[in-house]
Amino acid sequence: MKKYDYLIVGAGLFGAVFAYEAGKAGKKVLVIDKRDHIAGNIYTKEIENIQVHQYGAHIFHTSDREVWDYVQQFAEFNRYTNSPVACYKDELYNLPFNMNTFSKMWGIRTPAEAKEIIERQIREAGIREPKNLEEQAISLVGRDIYEKLVKGYTEKQWGRRATELPSFIIRRLPVRFVYDNNYFNDKYQGIPVGGYTQIIEKMLEGACVRLNTDFFTCREELMNEAENLVFTGMIDEYYDYCYGELEYRSLRFETEVLEMENYQGNAVVNYTEYEIPYTRIIEHKHFEYGCQGGYGESRSGISDKTVITREYPAAWSRGKEPYYPMNDEKNNALYEKYRALADKEEHVIFGGRLGMYRYFDMHQVVREALKAAEKALG
Ligand code: FAD
Repeated sequence: MKKYDYLIVGAGLFGAVFAYEAGKAGKKVLVIDKRDHIAGNIYTKEIENIQVHQYGAHIFHTSDREVWDYVQQFAEFNRYTNSPVACYKDELYNLPFNMNTFSKMWGIRTPAEAKEIIERQIREAGIREPKNLEEQAISLVGRDIYEKLVKGYTEKQWGRRATELPSFIIRRLPVRFVYDNNYFNDKYQGIPVGGYTQIIEKMLEGACVRLNTDFFTCREELMNEAENLVFTGMIDEYYDYCYGELEYRSLRFETEVLEMENYQGNAVVNYTEYEIPYTRIIEHKHFEYGCQGGYGESRSGISDKTVITREYPAAWSRGKEPYYPMNDEKNNALYEKYRALADKEEHVIFGGRLGMYRYFDMHQVVREALKAAEKALG
């Protein structure tokens, strides 16, 4: 009999949900993470009395009622509504593309006028079969929205010119003919009051946690301690890259404390021109407190300083932080080969964004982890 029923590699959201469910089922769990903190990419840290999202802006949103109820056990969520603003050469536009955006762009007022302009621009472009991302985007939303709000942002994000990117990257570019800046269509959204880290802390309460521990530096010893493995690291690394390397995009974050109360008046401002090297600036205090009076929270104790983070897209190479899987045909085919190996494992579960090589929002990770736990634990 080994000491633990489960070794969980990765103290992120997937690992923590699984650990919590395993604990409830009476299993003994060891969780390790190579970082010096728990919570993976949803880690938030208090700076100047403000919960700072250390790995980029994280807004919880879902239409899955069960998942929404599930996360409420671990924190109270505020009523934050994601309404990002785009900045293009000092012009500010509301996102997602809606009547506020169109009215600012063309000085019009009605949905009929906006539709007429977009349809005319699509017609004028005359693109039947889009050969690249640029043509695809113009054929969906017309030239003005593409040039000002899509082109530069997408080129920075992918590190390539839009004419060199495949058209399938953009399948849809939703346009709304109502004055509504709510970015998500989901039924529920919010930010946990007091940050995300406390959620993971509570989920891991019954588990033994070891930080600064890389699975690959002590694989044998760790495997001797547990009957089963839940692995939320990179699946190709697990198999020693035997079929080759899966590709990612990376990011770099630059965080700064500013001696002012309010820098940009919104949590998220996207910079859509190519010449500005970052894609967005996050001002963290607005996630928690909004503008006047906050989201029902007390404003006492709010810092008269503010914390902002600039987010720079970056190329990925081994050793850098892998943020976004590049789910193109080549990489998906490679992942399928690793998945075939994973399917043959009897005591190993691969989970999360790195183990399953897929971009997941948080609610999807919770759902996947609950599914995996139910299958494994009954
Ligand atoms: P992770 O959080 O990455 O956890 C995996 C953990 O495994 C990490 O802590 C890592 O250190 C550890 N690990 C890896 N390899 C090893 C090893 N060899 N040994 C030990 N430990 C290891 N989702 C939303 O719903 N809303 C948002 O607004 C949103 N914004 C996002 C913004 C950005 C910039 C990014 C990148 C993602 C965003 N997401 C958002 C997605 C969200 O971050 C993920 O859904 C979630 O964090 C995935 O959890 P995970 O457990 O799969 O992975």
